[in-house]
Amino acid sequence: MFRLDQPIVITIDGPAGTGKSSVARALAARLGLDFLDTGAMYRAAAAVALDRRLSLGDHAGIVAAAREAEIGFDWSLDPPGLLVFGEIMGERIRSAAVTAIVSGVAGIRALRELMVERQRAIAAKHPRLVTEGRDQGSVVFPDAKVKFYLDASPAVRAERRARQLEELGQKVDVAALREEIIARDKSDMGRVDGPLVRPAGSILIDTSDKSREQVIEELERQVRELAARA
Ligand code: C5P
Repeated sequence: MFRLDQPIVITIDGPAGTGKSSVARALAARLGLDFLDTGAMYRAAAAVALDRRLSLGDHAGIVAAAREAEIGFDWSLDPPGLLVFGEIMGERIRSAAVTAIVSGVAGIRALRELMVERQRAIAAKHPRLVTEGRDQGSVVFPDAKVKFYLDASPAVRAERRARQLEELGQKVDVAALREEIIARDKSDMGRVDGPLVRPAGSILIDTSDKSREQVIEELERQVRELAARA
């Protein structure tokens, strides 16, 4: 049973380039919920590891640095601003250098434990939440009232990422992006802790042939239908 005017967690998981962040944010706005981008938290940890010149094998060092950085969000901003060492960390988290190592960083068990703990603490303070990532419906919020899994073909996802990066002023090579996306899928799906899976009970939405607007409409319709039925 759930009502849309009560605490409610909606999870959106799926691979890179399915448009999760953008539709999750729009869905949250339409339903009057807060929005949590958990990929940004792993990206922040990767950026801190790069800044400290830590090697990917230095698990203890990376986890200690991420803990020290107190990765969180400034909720007074829209979308919430990513906070690292008390400062807003901007679009640097989308850089090629961060993207290249983030999946490796996200495979570190103790780092995942720290992030899961943080994400649950955020939900305790923001109990009306749309949260997106890889493990939100499966591991972090298994009792979420509504779970979505967004998917799309690698070719479509690479095109979308290319447009996003172009908007950020980055030079793009679509073929290389496609390879990078496939490699990241493999790494995200193959890890032992918090792998990318389609959570039990989740609603699958293939976004390959849908516009961003159509996906948002579909998600909102599904949530409202489920709420009406509950
Ligand atoms: O969604 P985004 O592309 O920003 O995520 C970056 C990376 O962070 C993913 O490739 C994945 O390795 C990791 N991640 C994760 N668990 C999440 C969110 C992101 O492991 N909940």
